[in-house]
Amino acid sequence: MSRHPYPLGDLPSPSPKLNPAIIRRDFPILERRVHGKPLVYLDNGATSQKPRAVIDAIRHFYENGCANIHRGVHLLSGEATQAYDRARTGICRAMGAAHAEEFVFVRGTTEAINLVARSWGDLHVHAGDEILLTEMEHHANIVPWQFLAKRAGAKIRVLPITPDGALDLERLPALLTEKTRILAFTHVSNVLGTVNPAAEICKAARDRGIVTLVDGAQAVPHGPVNLSEIGCDFYVFSGHKMFGPDGIGVLYGRGKLLASLPPWQGGGDMVERVSFEESTFRPPPDRFEAGTPNISGAIGLGAAFAYHDQLNWPELREHEHNLVTATHEALLSIPGLRIQGTVPGKAPVVSFTMEGIHPHDIGTILDSEGVAIRAGNHCAQPLLARLGIQSSARASFACYNTLEEVETLANAVRKAHRYFA
Ligand code: PLP
Repeated sequence: MSRHPYPLGDLPSPSPKLNPAIIRRDFPILERRVHGKPLVYLDNGATSQKPRAVIDAIRHFYENGCANIHRGVHLLSGEATQAYDRARTGICRAMGAAHAEEFVFVRGTTEAINLVARSWGDLHVHAGDEILLTEMEHHANIVPWQFLAKRAGAKIRVLPITPDGALDLERLPALLTEKTRILAFTHVSNVLGTVNPAAEICKAARDRGIVTLVDGAQAVPHGPVNLSEIGCDFYVFSGHKMFGPDGIGVLYGRGKLLASLPPWQGGGDMVERVSFEESTFRPPPDRFEAGTPNISGAIGLGAAFAYHDQLNWPELREHEHNLVTATHEALLSIPGLRIQGTVPGKAPVVSFTMEGIHPHDIGTILDSEGVAIRAGNHCAQPLLARLGIQSSARASFACYNTLEEVETLANAVRKAHRYFA
């Protein structure tokens, strides 16, 4: 008999939680010690930790209802199909969209952008056309467009950033020309923390008939994203950065546009009729989900959205803002330390460099204090080149982080400074 009183993929909605100390209890891993010290996990930009609700939903699927979807006549297959579809509907509702068919399950942000660059790009981008990106993109939102540009003979153009790390929007109108086919930009920078005004940017493109893709990988973890307010054509994100499992993410595509696109991979479950001469394809989202999908991942992502949804985001956003302010204050008092990205209202991402200390050494010393951060180029080499650096250290926060952890971070960075100064 099931140990869980709810069906697959349908989680109870506890009352809203704000206090990070209470939220932390939902994340078993935060009890861990590393090198004999309490874990201070500040690498949320790379991947977030998972609440028990998500872990339980996945375990529940494998212990009670593991089956393939859409193809079985037996009870388990019907239940798994319902749970998979329910996850899609829940995500659609949470993101302020009207049609669940507009949400395609993919492996993550990277796969979603590759899908659009292949399926939409091969249809609409031709020799002489332009693809507009920005200077603050993750490699995932650069390389697939380079592949497309090479295939089509198109050109990539780049919207620059200002010295404090905002997009230079005054330059946008001149870059949106009659040659521009798509504007693909990040909602939140994974290096600078800058939150871009996605609705305003999408409107500028839409007014000129230009398609938009928004990379939401670093936006969805920090509160609900409303797609009807943004007004983009495509929105993409990964589950693992917003409390969900890895290997699952979402491509949102505006209904008619998505329905007009050809599939990018062929196989089972995406076809209507197949003969050796030709095949016809099902409408979205099935058309873009060839083969057995990541069923447990989708159910886990549905659980992550259900968990995310019941948090008190207006107050948690303020809490995350306080974490950033406290981190900036504490780190800037350390001689020779520079922060990349100081735009007001930034997301809780703090990248920094220290004179005379390699970011990997900072990361290693912090690790010995139990503090997990990221050090490297953050998959944003063009941005780092623009900033005149090759790598940086990055502390990235989630709503379960605390001001005490900011203090531990700052003490560990001071220790690194003493060690190398
Ligand atoms: N876009 C941004 C802004 C990111 O921060 C990341 C990952 O760090 C990605 C895209 C790629 O995400 P994934 O590796 O989950 O596909």
